[in-house]
Amino acid sequence: MNDVAHPFSNNNGDACDAPTLAGKSILTFSALNTFRNCPRKYKHRYLDNLRPREKPESLAFGSVIHSAIELWYRSTADSNRLWTVLDFIDQQFPLRASDDAQKATWNLARAMFAGYADRYATEDFEIVEVELPFTGEIRNPDTNRPSQTFVMAGKVDGIVKRSDGMYLLEHKTASSIDANYLDKLWTDTQIALYSFHLRQLGFPIIGVIYNVLLKSRLQQKTGETEAEYEARRLELAAKNKSGRSTAKRQMPESDEDFQARLAQWYARPEAFHREHIYLSEDRLAMLQEEVWEITQQYLDARRRGKWLLNTSNCFSYQRPCEFLPYCQSGFNPNVADNLYDITPPHEELTNADSDAPIF
Ligand code: SF4
Repeated sequence: MNDVAHPFSNNNGDACDAPTLAGKSILTFSALNTFRNCPRKYKHRYLDNLRPREKPESLAFGSVIHSAIELWYRSTADSNRLWTVLDFIDQQFPLRASDDAQKATWNLARAMFAGYADRYATEDFEIVEVELPFTGEIRNPDTNRPSQTFVMAGKVDGIVKRSDGMYLLEHKTASSIDANYLDKLWTDTQIALYSFHLRQLGFPIIGVIYNVLLKSRLQQKTGETEAEYEARRLELAAKNKSGRSTAKRQMPESDEDFQARLAQWYARPEAFHREHIYLSEDRLAMLQEEVWEITQQYLDARRRGKWLLNTSNCFSYQRPCEFLPYCQSGFNPNVADNLYDITPPHEELTNADSDAPIF
């Protein structure tokens, strides 16, 4: 099957040719994977450029921690680097004094990072690259010829060198780390594929280190209102033979006290985890084949203008798909206007500090 040119939309939402590299259109793993999971979702996201206006809180938190770790490894020569990173975290939550949600996330991000810096004050690896963007050929597995239309692009969190070889470093925040979570890491096709491309670029990657940071569920104590205190005091007094109670009103927990409680929590061994996964040659070869097949299916869908809805994917990852209201409305343009912005795709490749192409 021949590949054909892939139209994207520009910032104005008008159809235009895809961003190119050496005359080829750039695909990210995220776009390919979206198409594989639900072709209709691909259309919403990458052809119509729809992006939900509300960013899920969990994503916002993950991206702050991700940037904080990036800064941490970029500033190894800075003797005050912990303060540099904590200052960066403070700047991400400018409304924390008046916004309870921001305050809760700020407290968690600060404590998590301070705990991380303490746990990994010395590392068993040296940093080779931080946030490295790359591009690589997508090849026909039968002929080994590169696609004439597409080139794959991505960005890795880090590349590190240990005594036994070179690894990709991938950061993750998680609500719990159990056997299921660790098993799922094996199915992380994106990272295996990135490893394949980085090998082609001269990095002899032998495996992946998943750098997992656990999210504490501790909550800052809000204290009692006057009415709650009075009700509790009366209840205790009624149980007391003297008819009196020495109960004191519980006051809101200060940020300092809450940080101290979180610090204790993050001093526990299970708060951070490093999982090492080695890459097999068979798996990497299979991935190449899969990627090629998906690009061919994509081209077919594009040529025929058929973007199927995969409704079995609407509630994956224990949450509704971001486009559920739009699909449920039968693609009502008013729903699109109210709930989504038009945003150029592939923002995961943007990086103000790098020369990565921005699409
Ligand atoms: S709501 Fe379901 S059908 Fe619609 S784009 Fe999302 S996954 Fe696909």
